Amino acid sequence: MPINTTVSTTDHELSWQETALCAQAGPEFFFPAPGASTREAKKLCGACEGRVACLEYALANDERFGVWGGLSEKERLRLRRTQG
Ligand code: SF4
Repeated sequence: MPINTTVSTTDHELSWQETALCAQAGPEFFFPAPGASTREAKKLCGACEGRVACLEYALANDERFGVWGGLSEKERLRLRRTQG
């Protein structure tokens, strides 16, 4: 979800945002209220060209909130734990 970007990141690292499908959807879609469904956001991620780069960015920058690269906060946390 390319809304909260850090200033220190280079343009190259953010090039995937140019094809980000979520840029056309509202932020409420990708930052749902606690307990709300993330299914629709994940569906969009599944069709997004930048999905892998988006997920890598979120993991590298420790993004805590919202759906990034098709994974919810909990799923990213689980992934980080299994990756060590
Ligand atoms: S993978 Fe999902 S969250 Fe990431 S840029 Fe694409 S649509 Fe947005």
